[in-house]
Parts: sequence; structure tokens; C-alpha cells
Amino acid sequence: MSDDLAIRAEALEALLTERGLVNAEAIDAVVSHFENDLGPLNGAQVVARAWTDPAYRKRLLADGTRAIAELGFEGPQGDKIVVVENTPEVHNLVVCTLCSCYPWPVLGLPPAWYKSPAYRARAVREPRAVLQEFGVELADDVEVRVWDSSAEIRYLVLPARPAGSEDLGIEALRALVSRDAMIGVATVTHPGGGA
Ligand code: FE
Repeated sequence: MSDDLAIRAEALEALLTERGLVNAEAIDAVVSHFENDLGPLNGAQVVARAWTDPAYRKRLLADGTRAIAELGFEGPQGDKIVVVENTPEVHNLVVCTLCSCYPWPVLGLPPAWYKSPAYRARAVREPRAVLQEFGVELADDVEVRVWDSSAEIRYLVLPARPAGSEDLGIEALRALVSRDAMIGVATVTHPGGGA
């Protein structure tokens, strides 16, 4: 979101609150819904499809925007989405060092920490330390790639499909995929299946 838009939104919220038309809690609830439910469920559907459909995975990695639109997800802040895949050798982490660019059609609105100056600076400078704080422990030989989102290109991480999930259907797989895993600050685990 541009600073200008953010300021306008804040001004609008302040005005509506002052007039008693809405309260801050109600707005927080709506934002939280977009942050945690609506958006990330779309991304999780993309991930689950890629895990179960090799041809789709190929299309997704070749042209993220188009493959994501196949599932009906498109719109503002999603003009160009590049999907980067986690493998045993590579772990991907997404940041916007400049502001808070984020792929809205698949992840909704960015969480507050994503917009924080600390995350924006440290994700680039010391990605392994940041990942550790989020609870992601990587072996030393795993390469960490940091992707700087911008107004032009926004990134989505395709997490690794967890061990033990071979028998799960697409809906069960989708339920395993968190927003954080698609930013790269978490991995996907299957409670019944070890790693
Ligand atoms: Fe940005």
C-alpha cells in the first residue's frame, strides 16, 4: 500500500470512529479476517493444488500470476506474482524492504510484523537469525534466498510438502498451509507425519 493510501485509510478510520459510526475493535476484526482467513486460504489452495498436480506446479513456477488466476485469484496488488519453491536445498524468504508490498490476491493483507522496520531490515541482513526467531531451524547447507517484493513483483513461497502427507487429499493439505509458510517464515508440518 502506498503511504498516501495508508494515511487516507487511517484518516477515514479516525473520522468514522470519532463520529461513532464504527469502533476500532470492529475494524481490527475485519483486518484480522483479511489477514488470517480470506487471503491466506486462497494461497493455501494454490499450494495444495501445486502439491497434488505436477502440471499445475510447473505452470505456477513458470508464470505465477497466470496459474493463480486459473483458480480465480487476481486483483489489486497481484499484477505480477512470482512463486518461489522451497526444496531440500533452498529455503525462500519474502520481505519488502521498502514498505509492505505483498501479494494480496493470495495472502490478503500483510501482518503488522511484515511492515515493521525491524523485519524489513533484518530479513535481508540476517535472514537465518530471523528465521530462527520464527522457529524455523535450517541445516547449515540449506541456502536461504531472500526476495524483495516491490510494486512490480510480489513473491509467494511454495513451501515443501511435509513428510507423511502422501495420503492427504487437497482439502486436508490446504488446511496445513499457513500464511507464514507462504511468506517463508514457517515451514509446513503434518502433525501425523513427523517433519
Ligand atoms: Fe512495499
